[in-house]
Amino acid sequence: MSSPAPIESYAELLKQGNLVVFPTETVYGLGASAWNPKAVQQIFKTKGRPGDNPLIVHISSIDMVKQFTDQVSGRARTLMQKFWPGPLTLVFPKKPGVLDAVTAGLDTVALRMPDHPIALQLIELAGPLVAPSANKSGRPSPTRAEHIRSDYGNSLPLIDGGECDLGLESTVIDMSVNPPVILRPGYITAKQIEEACGFHPEMATYSASDSSGPKSPGMKYTHYAPKAKVEWLSTEHITLLNASSDNSGSLIVLHSMDNPVNQPHKGLKVMHFNSDYRRLAHQLYDCFRKADFDKVKRIYIEPFNDELIKENQPVEALQNRISKATGSRSSQL
Ligand code: AMP
Ligand code: MG
Repeated sequence: MSSPAPIESYAELLKQGNLVVFPTETVYGLGASAWNPKAVQQIFKTKGRPGDNPLIVHISSIDMVKQFTDQVSGRARTLMQKFWPGPLTLVFPKKPGVLDAVTAGLDTVALRMPDHPIALQLIELAGPLVAPSANKSGRPSPTRAEHIRSDYGNSLPLIDGGECDLGLESTVIDMSVNPPVILRPGYITAKQIEEACGFHPEMATYSASDSSGPKSPGMKYTHYAPKAKVEWLSTEHITLLNASSDNSGSLIVLHSMDNPVNQPHKGLKVMHFNSDYRRLAHQLYDCFRKADFDKVKRIYIEPFNDELIKENQPVEALQNRISKATGSRSSQL
């Protein structure tokens, strides 16, 4: 099916157990009915997603929460009222009937209300949807319809909602423990959560050597990566780039420093975000995918100053996604 078809027809496909790709404000999601075990299995197969990485259930009203959990704390209610619809996922103890395939066998379930009219209407019509990012596992999350076509061709029903507004996945916070902890940094910062409900959530940590495994299985997977090699920009890189006679396979991504490489660039590509971290978030995955398209071999990204993380900008989430793209998984979630 090709857009534009009425949204009701996509809802019908979902109700019949098919998958549909739809836009949210964060990234595109690959949706399936949260109550249909076969459709949920199909998500793992289609994405090539490891079976131990649970899915977020997307809902369109706070009333739908009670289908999945009956343990909502006062703090959780405050967060829902303040940030839903929006890029905040809350993890709760799950009710017994919630499908094991959705939670990857965990006794908790992750819930989010996306802030996108198409997503909300689709859920309203088809019921709660599990919807991981609609990329093939390991690839950067899709923020435009063309990213989905590049991973899947035209094999999936797709609602084209244009470019996603935010471009980075939601913040995941575990409300099933006291005090709650952040399992994945995202667009909503720890500082915003603190301002909303008076406690500062710490970041859950995970080291690859932990034998018990991570609290959130997604932590252990290295992903969001383009085919190009991604590295944090270092003084050694700058020396090498300055000395080389051909930098045409390289891209540097800057946000605060001036271009540190001498003119002429000898083919070097440079992107500068001028301290606009929301713009960097908006474009990061698209930049990764475009770099592959342009046959870029190496992407050097300026590291973030720790002071920036304390500000209300999605810097911690950027640091997390870029660290994963570099292949590092033990120092970052
Ligand atoms: P994605 O939908 O691909 O953006 O990934 C969803 C993220 O939420 C992954 O990091 C999962 O590990 C995490 N997640 C989903 N459900 C749970 C849960 N019940 N407990 C902890 N983490 C979860
Ligand atoms: Mg994903």
